[in-house]
Parts: sequence; C-alpha cells; structure tokens
Amino acid sequence: MENVTLQKISIFQASTQLQLLNLTVDHFTKSRIKDVPNSTNSASKMNRVEHLLNPITSTPTYKKMTQEFDFTNHSHRRHNPLTDTYVLCSPHRAKRPWQGAREEVKKTNLPEYDPKCYLCPGNIRATGDANPKFEGTYIFTNDYPAVKLDQPDYIDHADADKKSDYSSDSQTKTSDKPELDIDLNLTIKTLKIAEKSLNSKKSLAQRLLKTQGVKGKCFVICFSAKHNLTLPLMSVPELANVVQTWLNLYNTLQAESLTGSPFKYLQIFENKGSAMGCSNPHPHGQAWCLDMIPSEVSQELINMKKYLQENDSHLLGDYVQLELNDKLRLVAENDSFIVVVPYWALWPFETLVISKEHLRSTQDFSEKHKEDLAKILKVLTTKYDNLFNTFFPYSMGIHQAPLQCEEDVKDVSWFHMHFYPPLLRSATVKKFCVGFEMLGEAQRDLTSEQAAERLKCLDGEKHFMDL
Ligand SMILES: [Zn+2]
Ligand SMILES: [Zn+2]
Repeated sequence: MENVTLQKISIFQASTQLQLLNLTVDHFTKSRIKDVPNSTNSASKMNRVEHLLNPITSTPTYKKMTQEFDFTNHSHRRHNPLTDTYVLCSPHRAKRPWQGAREEVKKTNLPEYDPKCYLCPGNIRATGDANPKFEGTYIFTNDYPAVKLDQPDYIDHADADKKSDYSSDSQTKTSDKPELDIDLNLTIKTLKIAEKSLNSKKSLAQRLLKTQGVKGKCFVICFSAKHNLTLPLMSVPELANVVQTWLNLYNTLQAESLTGSPFKYLQIFENKGSAMGCSNPHPHGQAWCLDMIPSEVSQELINMKKYLQENDSHLLGDYVQLELNDKLRLVAENDSFIVVVPYWALWPFETLVISKEHLRSTQDFSEKHKEDLAKILKVLTTKYDNLFNTFFPYSMGIHQAPLQCEEDVKDVSWFHMHFYPPLLRSATVKKFCVGFEMLGEAQRDLTSEQAAERLKCLDGEKHFMDL
C-alpha cells in the first residue's frame, strides 16, 4: 500500500511541478506589481514593473492560453516507467520542414578480410594469441577486460571495525551491496528506519564514499568471419547464429552461477561505428558478466516489480499491448517481437525491441523465437542504415533476467533490447546530450511518433548497399 501511495505522490508531485511553477510565476508577478510604491505617474510605474518582469522586450509574459494542448506543438515531459525519469519534449522545434538532408550514398567498400584487423580469422591479436580460422560467429575472452575475476575481494576496513563495535549489526548486515531482492521485499518505512539507525553510527566517509569490489569476465563476439558483414547485411540464418551465441553464453554462465561462480548478470551489447567509440569496423559485440546487477538494469527491475504489484500485470507486457493498439510508434512487428520508438525515447531514433509474450531471458526462447529475433533485427538495422544511407551507428544491448536472483525477480524480467543511435538529421549531424540535459534532464525535439513514422516508411528488406 505504501508503495502505491508513494508512487501516486511521486506522479502527483511531478505533474504538479509545472502548476507550482506557474503559481510561483503568478505570485511573483502580482507581488512585484503590489510592491511598487504608489505614484502619481502610473505610466512610469507600469514601465518600471514591465522592465522588472521582462527587461528585454518589456512585454508581459505568462499569458493564459486558451487553445487546446497539442502534443506536436507544445513542450511537455514524458515519463519513462522503466527508469522512473522524465524526458522534456520540445516538438515545436522540430516543426521545420524536412530539408531532405539525405547524404550521398557512401558505399564504403571494406574488404572481406583485413590482414591488419585483430578480429579477422587467423590474425594475431595484440596479446600474441592467434584467432582460429573461424567461419561463423566467434566468441573469445576480451584481452583488455573492464573487469577481471583474479583480483582480491574488496574489504571495507572501516565498515568491518564498525561491525565489531555493533555486534547486532554484524549479525544482520553482511554487506553494503544493494541486494535487489532484499530491497524489494522491505517496505519503504522499514528501510528508512533501518537506514537512519545505521547512518547515525557511520563516519562521514562511510556515509559518502561507498565502494564495492567488482569481479567479472568480458567477452568479444565476432558476429561474422567477414570483416565487412554488419548485422543488416547478414542473412537470417547467419543472424540466428549470433542469437544462438548470445543464448549459449547465457546458458553456460547461468549453469556456472548455479555451481558457485559469482556471476549475477550478463550484459550483452554492441557499440557500432566510430561515433559510438568503436575502434574496429569488424562487426562485433561484447558481453560483460558481472558479480552484481548494474544500476540501469536494477532500476528497471525495481520499477517493473513495482508496476506488477500495483497493476497485477507486467509493465512491458502492457506496453506491447498499448503499442499494438495505438500503432503510433510501431516500427516493425512479427509473430514474436515488436519494434517501437518508445513514448519516452531520448535519442532521436531510439527503439525498443520487445518480446510479445513473457520471455524472461533467452533461456525461454524456442527455435521460432530465435528465428523471429534474427528477422526483426535484420529489418530494424536495415531501416536504420537506409535512414541516412550510412552504416548507422548505435549502442544496443539486451536486458533480460539476471543469472542469479529470486524467482519473483526473474518473473518480472521481460526480454527486450534497447537501441540508442546518436544520429539526428543526417549521417554527420548527431545529437549531443549537453547543457540542460547534463544539468536538468533529457530533452528531445522530434517526437517519438514522428521518428517512428519515418522509420516505419523505410525499406526493411533491401539495404542501400544492394540498390
Ligand atoms: Zn576484421
Ligand atoms: Zn531495459
């Protein structure tokens, strides 16, 4: 019940922020007018007031509008229920007619094999290891991993001392790690009391400088042996091999996690294009396996669990239904998956690939699901490349059930993939998250519906390189 109330309060607070702002502005306006001393020269008085209100134009602002609110013309905020954050939409700025800034077709002819590429079959990598002469998808342990398994455990000495001082704590609290399962099962009230009592015993460093040791394993996945074969240029069976590799890795690590390995979450992703910091054009993705659940995933799981408790249905299951009914943001669809530009998208052509039925992870995939995912990835990435006649850069990744978690957390997980492409108007004009976005909140001009319409109309079968 408290969760429900808190949620309502939070939505209420957010939706009333603008009203409060208006009230403040209104109050400000009136109080300024009232504060001006009586004067016999009313014109001069008003001039002074107007100058205070708007020193540049001297035109009174904050007029009460009588026209209907228009989502394609008036600024508004959209809520992201997965992360419980907002994005500011300024659709009036995207009203300019499309300038047709389609780039010249750049048929970058990369070779099928590059002797200098450390990902091509048979080549020597920087560490001296040689790649086998693989033919399909090839996975190997990253030579320069972000996290490693062979490092000592992190011990917070100050915390350990504290535990010995307060023996009751040491019995109930074994770690400062934000255990998702525990957090979800505690009420907010209990949490707050526990936190307060704990914080009163902590030093400033313990309160403010928190650390966790992180161990893990990183993999590189070459999608293909061919140096120039990106996802949209691969055949459906070749793409199905990539899906199978993701699935095999999940299964292997899941089995290891059940027999004592510390792995909790597998993050599979691809950074494509130099715009996303990818240094090697050989089509490849990555997989990081960690002994913790990363913040973004953890936040989504918490919000999906909350939604399930409040609505008795799954957030992403409901969202699939909504988008299938509305069709306003639907880009592509097959028997098992949909692609949408989410209502709350931040990046201009951001998309979500969501399974239609409840698949918690690739472990729940049938042969049909594998093939359908391969098909929809081919359609989406082909549309992306055809948008600006370029090898469309993006960061994409899979969100699915953690490797180790309680059954109820596993059950709120719903297989989906995020695509975050940076391009805005052409192959060279990209969006930057700067200024207000770094200091205030995410912001976009083009609406999700406008972006979806553009992607929907594009050819999802014939790639511009084949035209
Ligand atoms: Zn290569
Ligand atoms: Zn997600």
